[in-house]
Amino acid sequence: TVISNHMPTAELQALDAAHHLHPFTNGGELNTKGARIITRAKGVTLTDSEGNEILDGMAGLWCVNVGYGRKEMAEVAARQMLELPYYNTFFQTSHVPAIALSERLAKLSPHDLNHVFYAGSGSEANDTNIRMVRTYWAEKGHPEKKTIIARKNGYHGSTVGSGSLGGMTGMHAQGGMPIPDIHHIDQPNWYAEGGDTDPNEFGLQRARALEEAILELGEDKVAAFIGEPIQGAGGVIIPPETYWPEIQRICEQYNILLIADEVITGFGRTGNWFGCETFDIKPHIMTIAKGLSSGYAPIGGSLVCDEVAEVMNSCEFNHGYTYSGHPVACAVALENLRLLDEEGIVEKVGKETAPYLKKKWESLNEHPLVGETQLCGLMGSMALTPHKDSRAAFAAEAGTAGLICREHCFANNLVMRHVGDRMVISPPLVITNAEIDTLVERAWKALDQAH
Ligand code: PLP
Repeated sequence: TVISNHMPTAELQALDAAHHLHPFTNGGELNTKGARIITRAKGVTLTDSEGNEILDGMAGLWCVNVGYGRKEMAEVAARQMLELPYYNTFFQTSHVPAIALSERLAKLSPHDLNHVFYAGSGSEANDTNIRMVRTYWAEKGHPEKKTIIARKNGYHGSTVGSGSLGGMTGMHAQGGMPIPDIHHIDQPNWYAEGGDTDPNEFGLQRARALEEAILELGEDKVAAFIGEPIQGAGGVIIPPETYWPEIQRICEQYNILLIADEVITGFGRTGNWFGCETFDIKPHIMTIAKGLSSGYAPIGGSLVCDEVAEVMNSCEFNHGYTYSGHPVACAVALENLRLLDEEGIVEKVGKETAPYLKKKWESLNEHPLVGETQLCGLMGSMALTPHKDSRAAFAAEAGTAGLICREHCFANNLVMRHVGDRMVISPPLVITNAEIDTLVERAWKALDQAH
């Protein structure tokens, strides 16, 4: 039999259960109830095998920035596959898609991030970063400067290296993470951990945890600090205004490289091209993936400043992936950047879509289950609570309320994710005001049903 979209859902689910191991999923549970099978998508709307139309409030996994069903992207991919489907960028060769994308990224990115090291994903790019910052310091005569400071509840990927940078305890419990010489400090999550402290004072305190860690570990032992401008997978946690300027000061004062992981916040998500512009961060290295190709092709990379690139170019970096600078992925990414730019999508997010969504999103604060809402550009979150004023967490098993709410969203044809008892959204950047209205209406309905 030919397996296709025309098969009955139950048969597809049975085949999926028999042969497909799903990431970040309890397989036993999923296989009992059967996966929802997505068959096609257009704009911000997914269609499933039962013909339901679902509003994708997550842009896939925070990545389909230009929306689904873009013919231009498919045409570019087909053209590139016919012309040069693959060639590597190892061992003294290069090709036009990698050259053109690198030049474009150098122009687009802030400051002097003028160089790109390609990877196939955000996880791989962060693995590159671990080795690159340590190699940088070793080449400069400081091989002992190798500890990387990251944050609890940060997410940087799921390979052994990038998962070690991340501060997800559930991940660390499985499979031998974290690797040595990674140190985690507390996150700037005022809502959950700030108590009565003023948010800006709390932002300073949490930034100074970096300084304390550097002093404890020794400045000559610390290679870099890595953080997401806004923690995404940790629950869309927007740090207090005071946080990033203080982190910047500390990195400069102690001669620590600053890595901004912009895998989610890059390419328009926060209303600027990069989260570093929104928060005025000047990193030495920036991790990119997801919105770089809007998820149409797997590609990630490390954008590297002049100073670090000069040192890396002075040695042979024994590192790379077969798909580093894959020509089809590069061509697709370049076309994606053209669409984001020429259609004015990023500008529109900042000037029109985000302000509209903010008004609507904040209206959810009036719901009795919602303790707070946060939004920056088109990434947002809301905290579910039994007591609005005290910001209390649910006493029952953490995450249950979020899970229930997510299930109601899904039943109401809205994809919204939950991180514990925080609900998060990150819709395609091309979402219209009418679609935002639908998103918020469905979210409200799901909250009512979960209440
Ligand atoms: N970094 C951040 C901030 C992410 O959110 C993610 C994925 O969600 C990654 C890295 C890992 O990227 P990938 O899943 O492409 O390996």
